[in-house]
Amino acid sequence: MEQGKAKITCGGIAIAPVFEIKNQHLEVAQLPILSVEEELARLNQGAQQALEQISALIDKQDPNSQAVEILEFHLMLCQEDELLDPARELIAKGGINAAAAILQAGAQQAAEFKALDDPYMQERSADILDVAERIGACIAGVKVQSKPTSRVVIVADDLTPSQTAAFEREYIAAIVLRGGTANSHAAILARNMGIPSLIRAQLPHDIDGQILAVDAIAGNFYLNPDATTLSKMQQAKEDWDKAQLRLLALRGKPSHAPCGHKMLVCANIGTPDEIEFALENDCEGVGLMRSEFLFIGRETYPTEEEQYQAYARVATALNGRPLVIRTLDIGADKKCPYFNLPEEENPALGLRALRICLLRPELFKVQIRAICRAAARGKVLMMLPMVTSLQEIKQSKALLETCLQELAQEGKEYARPQLGIMIETPAAAILSAQLATEVDFFSIGTNDLMQYTCALDRQNAGLSAFYDPHHPALLELIKLTAHHAHQAGIWIGICGELGSDLSLIDTFIEYGIDELSVSPSRILAVREKILHSTAACLNRRGAEVNF
Ligand code: PEP
Ligand code: MG
Repeated sequence: MEQGKAKITCGGIAIAPVFEIKNQHLEVAQLPILSVEEELARLNQGAQQALEQISALIDKQDPNSQAVEILEFHLMLCQEDELLDPARELIAKGGINAAAAILQAGAQQAAEFKALDDPYMQERSADILDVAERIGACIAGVKVQSKPTSRVVIVADDLTPSQTAAFEREYIAAIVLRGGTANSHAAILARNMGIPSLIRAQLPHDIDGQILAVDAIAGNFYLNPDATTLSKMQQAKEDWDKAQLRLLALRGKPSHAPCGHKMLVCANIGTPDEIEFALENDCEGVGLMRSEFLFIGRETYPTEEEQYQAYARVATALNGRPLVIRTLDIGADKKCPYFNLPEEENPALGLRALRICLLRPELFKVQIRAICRAAARGKVLMMLPMVTSLQEIKQSKALLETCLQELAQEGKEYARPQLGIMIETPAAAILSAQLATEVDFFSIGTNDLMQYTCALDRQNAGLSAFYDPHHPALLELIKLTAHHAHQAGIWIGICGELGSDLSLIDTFIEYGIDELSVSPSRILAVREKILHSTAACLNRRGAEVNF
């Protein structure tokens, strides 16, 4: 048995075999472009090679397992013209290599499947992407990793947000990273899915298939646990499951503090699929939908229709509860190669989020239009990230007006969404009295507000010794912003990870924070804390949050 300590990023206990992920990047854009004939030949060879790989994988499975069914579908995709023909057409037009062509064709076909009404067909889009990626990797000469088909503990040095978003939750018992940071988007997504997770675990390499017991309550891991440890861990898992059951009894209860302050506990979600888990945990709305996850992990921009379908799906599922859609926030660790953004020395301080949207209004308008259309299907609010000035809000509002006018002229169904901003730069917090007069609500992004206030890169694991999530400067900025929001009569929430820090709930009640938006797995624990709070709210808005 080998054991060690690590940092917890999502609580829970798991015992399962290791599935090791070794990161290799598919850089198709850097491959040379040969003649059309040669690229067509490369495509055929890639498809043939992928077919052989999948056949070999099928041979390793239990013949009656669901994995075989899925892999046989993958085999079919490698042979079908529906996937290969569009790639051939792209190659025939010239100027593209076979790997890029199959990825583009796969993304297009996957998007079409995702937009269908039949949930079975929607789910097939992930298989299409998987197969296109496998063929692309064969062409590029890169080894692709298969995905888990039974319950495992994912072990990796680090994960990208798109890798994490692609996991099928039912197969992931836990995630243990050798690197990673608590507020990276990969960690946030895992938390959104309620997957017990550890970071900075000193685990050996090449441990595929070995049993790993993950104690993401005490922050320990045990590789190949001995019989005594195994039985202790099994007991801990039973206790954890019982505690979860106790929390489940809080479903349906409003989150009111004994002092009379009412808080709304909402969910943060990355992809539309996460809404189910959020509802299971009785979210009172979605306080942050990170819309950029519709953009990353693909080869082309999502269309207005695709975005509308995704937002409308969540709005409908929420059945009258609010949905706050945060407009595109790519840049920094959320990479999107097809945006062709310049290489930057300091991407966290560079061209990201709202800055990109305002520089590319045509792109921004597609998203705003999709949001306005979804607003006709539920209570939808639009939220701007990374605001630093009044000017940015005014420019965004002008674009919103243009979109509303266009939709009216086109006779489309739409509604005006309430407009809010994230307070995640010190500039926005300091200017909050002024900014509050222009918008309907504020939501504090403590992950970035912390990073920019304390000059601490949230991605840099080496800075953890300096990271104080309760830094007084951060708390002062939250208090100040809450005061300004209430002075202007608007509501204020917190959607950064600090919102689910149970030791700060009393402080947030004192500040009069109206809403907390947290990972779905934290909703009920936060509600329990609010219900038993001993704090007295000092700074109430006077009116209830009215989305
Ligand atoms: C934040 O910065 O706190 C936030 C919620 O946004 P993100 O984590 O997506 O940057
Ligand atoms: Mg942020």
